[in-house]
Amino acid sequence: MKRIFTTPTKLTLYALVLSLYTLIAFHKPLLDLVLECVERDFNGYLLVGSILLLTLAANFMVYYLLLYLLRIVGKIIIAISLIANAVALYFVNTYEVLITRDMMGNLFNTNISEASGFLSFTPLLYVALLGIAPCIYIFKRKVEYGSWRRMFANVGVAIASIAVIGVANMGNVLWIDHNAPRVGSLFLPWSYIANTIRHFHHQAMMNREEIPLPDATITNSEREVCVLVIGESARKGNFSLYGYERDTNPLLSSDSVTVYDAVASATSTTVAVKAILDHKPTGKLYEILPNYLSRNGVEVIWRSTNFGEPPLHIQNKSNLAKLRERYPDADDRYDGILLEGLREEICATTADKLLVILHTSTSHGPTYNKKYPAAFERYTPVCTTVEMSKADPQELVNAYDNTILYTDYLLHSIIEMLRSLEQPSAMIYISDHGESLGEGNIYMHGMVSASMAPREQLDIPFIVWQSAESRELKELNEVGHHHIFHSVMDYLDLRSDIFDEEKSIFN
Ligand SMILES: [Zn+2]
Repeated sequence: MKRIFTTPTKLTLYALVLSLYTLIAFHKPLLDLVLECVERDFNGYLLVGSILLLTLAANFMVYYLLLYLLRIVGKIIIAISLIANAVALYFVNTYEVLITRDMMGNLFNTNISEASGFLSFTPLLYVALLGIAPCIYIFKRKVEYGSWRRMFANVGVAIASIAVIGVANMGNVLWIDHNAPRVGSLFLPWSYIANTIRHFHHQAMMNREEIPLPDATITNSEREVCVLVIGESARKGNFSLYGYERDTNPLLSSDSVTVYDAVASATSTTVAVKAILDHKPTGKLYEILPNYLSRNGVEVIWRSTNFGEPPLHIQNKSNLAKLRERYPDADDRYDGILLEGLREEICATTADKLLVILHTSTSHGPTYNKKYPAAFERYTPVCTTVEMSKADPQELVNAYDNTILYTDYLLHSIIEMLRSLEQPSAMIYISDHGESLGEGNIYMHGMVSASMAPREQLDIPFIVWQSAESRELKELNEVGHHHIFHSVMDYLDLRSDIFDEEKSIFN
């Protein structure tokens, strides 16, 4: 045993051991996914073998190059990547997530208090056993780095293997095209490195100048208030307004609200919130609803306990930190803080048209039981573990349903507040996306592109309330995120060339 650490090993063998370890320790989810997606025939096994060999060859090549060129620094980089792999594997195993750009975005947009909700014993065990333990080998093992010629020979063999794998799979181009996003998201450490880069690139793209929309005119001077509430991870099926057997909407059910069947256009917060604020489906950055309305004479108030919205160019915006500062006595653990002093703020506005946007976070997992005050814990016992796959399914649903019960209270409170204003007013509530609560062993949201997402992540509530002087509402079979922009414009009597009457819920 001692000889392992005293006699130097050739870099070839050392890099091979590390890449084999990476393959075996971190790629079971990849293997499971590929086995799920292939037929049990020669070609299927060719694909499975190719993907495993590709993982091995790619990691071998990069490890070899890092070590040869950077020596101890290369060792440190590889050690860090193994620890990061362990964390990634924990998330993949526990939440059945795929490591996509949106997933990395959610991670970077999650503040520390939310991230600490994920901390428990198991992830530390993953890090210790799969990440830190192999570091003993990495740093203790003496390496004989060899010549340039040997380096080129080894890297050449790795590149040749990758090329052979490519040629052998020419006939599988369609399969690769179809499955690449999912399969690729489980290649470690490539998936989180590539998707982190993609995320920041995307952020930079989002921060570029937005494309202005044509000027709008306000067609009357009647004072009107519209409150748009953006929900978080609220799924339609758990609202009694949509027929859920539990009475999760005791207050709203007597508020004479109208509900529409809505389908989310994305399953991650960042993409979905952009869609809610966009005038049409687009990958580009056009003026979003609050920026557009604010530029055209509407007073806009934005309050958020959440993250991930496109850049806001308005005066009156408050995130959680700012709300805490403004209302030091308010309970900052729950979304109730969004309503703190809101009535006074609305009354203090002077413009004819007012838009209030509240971006909530109530039903965000994994710790649903921490997202509502104790008085709303009607359904018990509730799940308190952050490892959803180990949770009792009923306890998980109980905790989630309590968040919907609290949402019911929040929306009702907004309606009561609007009623007390005695001005024409409306509230529109829409969720960013739904949520998986263990159906098909999937949890939370944002794991797959919308086209592959399960129904639970796509079916969202869309609830409308209006004051006595109400507008006629259209009967629509299905609405979506892009109905918000035009409905809000319509309600506040704004008109411009991009206004699409078809996409308004008002007649
Ligand atoms: Zn969300």
